[in-house]
Amino acid sequence: MSETIEDNIQVLFKSAPEGLPTEDNFEIKRAPMPSIGEGQFLLRNLYLSLDPYQRMLMGGGWTYSGGDLKPGDLMVGRILGEVIESKNPDYLVGTYCVGRLGWQTHAISDGSNLDFTIPRDSKIPLSAYMGAAGSTGVTAWVGLKVTGQMKPSDTVLISAAAGAVGSAAGQIAKASGCKVIGIAGGPAKCKIVTDVFGFDACVDYKASDLTGQIKAAAPEGIDLYFDNVGGDVLSAALANMNKGGRIPLCGVLAAYNVEGEAPKVANMGKIFDKSLRIEGFVQTQYKDHWDEARAELIDLIQSGKLTYRETIADGIDAAPSAFIGMLQGANVGKQLVQLA
Ligand code: NAP
Repeated sequence: MSETIEDNIQVLFKSAPEGLPTEDNFEIKRAPMPSIGEGQFLLRNLYLSLDPYQRMLMGGGWTYSGGDLKPGDLMVGRILGEVIESKNPDYLVGTYCVGRLGWQTHAISDGSNLDFTIPRDSKIPLSAYMGAAGSTGVTAWVGLKVTGQMKPSDTVLISAAAGAVGSAAGQIAKASGCKVIGIAGGPAKCKIVTDVFGFDACVDYKASDLTGQIKAAAPEGIDLYFDNVGGDVLSAALANMNKGGRIPLCGVLAAYNVEGEAPKVANMGKIFDKSLRIEGFVQTQYKDHWDEARAELIDLIQSGKLTYRETIADGIDAAPSAFIGMLQGANVGKQLVQLA
């Protein structure tokens, strides 16, 4: 079907992947532009956030308590949009909003399904609100400060350290006075983690002896491990934990694309031997911390203590391939799609 200026272009979930998704698991649909009713407004979406949790919603392997998508559903995802038409006095034309309104070029809202609006006098780039100053940064902040009970004297270990959440977490920990070790895939990514994001060291989970590499980088042991991965990486971290250590469990990247049994974790005995606390968290549990976290993240960005990188795909049609790439580590920092 030909595209017209009136089209709302959407990415729908088509089928559950077996392992890593392919472009066949998605369908691009041209839908008529929605029209607004009283109290509503129309957003032209500028950015779409691509995140590993969307793989969980596609089912076929690891699933999420949020519930699987059904064929024909709009893919779930956060957008940053600009109000271009409004019948709601609280959302005037020109307002920028962030909310989980799906993989589409336009969306309707009445404000109730938004995360936040961006202040008109904001001094940081809009796209930062999709990453370091948005739910990504907030995830890192609550994982370290609330779940992880981070202390300035901690030696902190962070996996997926060149990614969006990991790179923010490392810099928040550095700004709090901690020694910070990253874990990333390959020498090039490890160099980015130290040279761009300022971690004290970074070890390569794709090279041999991860347990020994962590020990060499942190002979004093690890007090707080921010886990984005699970599986073998968590096993190596467990072997290096200090007594009373804390492990906020943020995600399980090692499992999302695995069919059948999830990757096993070794060294479980360390949990009682070292009196460790492992606690999973989802940042949406901590809405009462969002404003405080975002204010601190914006301050850190403005003072140069929190730098961020973005990998930006061009156009809604590129969303499925960018998503598949992100799941394999093709991104540095936050994976976004520029929609307008
Ligand atoms: P990201 O880290 O920017 O991108 C994913 C990265 O994962 C890739 O760049 C890749 O980096 C790494 N990776 C992929 N497969 C891996 C594997 N098998 N083992 C180790 N690393 C692997 O993604 P993100 O959005 O920041 O998400 C990071 C984690 O946070 C995910 O687990 C996600 O589910 C979680 N998360 C949780 C919450 C929450 O509320 N709990 C919120 C947001 C995100 P390499 O090249 O280094 O392999």
